Amino acid sequence: MGNEAYVTLPDGERIAKLGQGTWEMGERRAVRAAEIAALREGIELGMNLIDTAEMYGDGATETLLGEALAGLRDQVFLVSKVYPHNASRRGVVASCEASLKRLKTDRLDLYLLHWPGGIALEETIEGFEALHQAGKIRHWGVSNFDLDDMDALVAAGGSACATNQVLYNVARRGPEFDLLPWMCERAMPAMAYSPIDHGRLPKRSVLDEIAAARGVSTTSIALAWVLAQPGVCAIPKAGSVEHVRENRRAFDIELTDAERAAIDAYFKPPRSKRPLEML
Ligand code: NAP
Repeated sequence: MGNEAYVTLPDGERIAKLGQGTWEMGERRAVRAAEIAALREGIELGMNLIDTAEMYGDGATETLLGEALAGLRDQVFLVSKVYPHNASRRGVVASCEASLKRLKTDRLDLYLLHWPGGIALEETIEGFEALHQAGKIRHWGVSNFDLDDMDALVAAGGSACATNQVLYNVARRGPEFDLLPWMCERAMPAMAYSPIDHGRLPKRSVLDEIAAARGVSTTSIALAWVLAQPGVCAIPKAGSVEHVRENRRAFDIELTDAERAAIDAYFKPPRSKRPLEML
């Protein structure tokens, strides 16, 4: 792969920089086979960091993923997430066990709190630690945590947090101001969700110009930009083998200094705090 192929978790374990998302998969019978084929193709291509959540399709996405992982589980770094309202000491354990069942596996590689909620973080952390001790999760982390949430997490005893999964892409660069530097100082990689902005990238931007000059898609340039950020891994969701292959090829695109400067001029890096956006 052209760019650095891995990011490193705080405990030294390396995970693929380019993975796959699953939101909105497993919800329509007509595209089920295509989704499974896409996920399996991605794993073959080394995009073996796979993100899901108990929320997605009310469990239907995890069920589809369990099917897609048949015979491939050991090749994958599997991530799922617990709803904040389920994140009590006991609730975390119950949710994880239900996810494991749907995913047809005995452990998650990473389990995330989906977003900050009303249950005390100390309780959630206790639940995560109990799952870790039982061998049901290998790491835990959070998602949609802004800087003040990360401070609260540390204050609650959450220094073992492995990552924070956040909305980050070329059109939404807010985390660069404070959150990403904070995480970088702690050797904690960021997991960029919606790395191609959930299909909402602006039309007729500098990305189109760069893409046209290179003979690739706009999506590929947006993805290549995220993948070039140090300490950031990305989990684009693709529902077809063609899109998966294109996303994998985007990983080999190395943007030039001039291209990056043109992107910075159009999608300006933040000069002040912007609240963390959520999808
Ligand atoms: P995304 O990955 O930025 O974009 C997905 C969209 O891009 C889909 O419509 C997909 O269409 C399309 N696409 C993918 N590859 C393409 C290509 N090569 N060319 C053209 N279109 C392409 O958005 P996302 O699904 O919101 O985010 C990715 C993952 O992050 C999710 O699936 C989920 O696992 C995670 N996530 C987490 C949170 C959180 O709160 N923690 C929130 C949102 C997302 P097709 O399906 O037709 O390929």
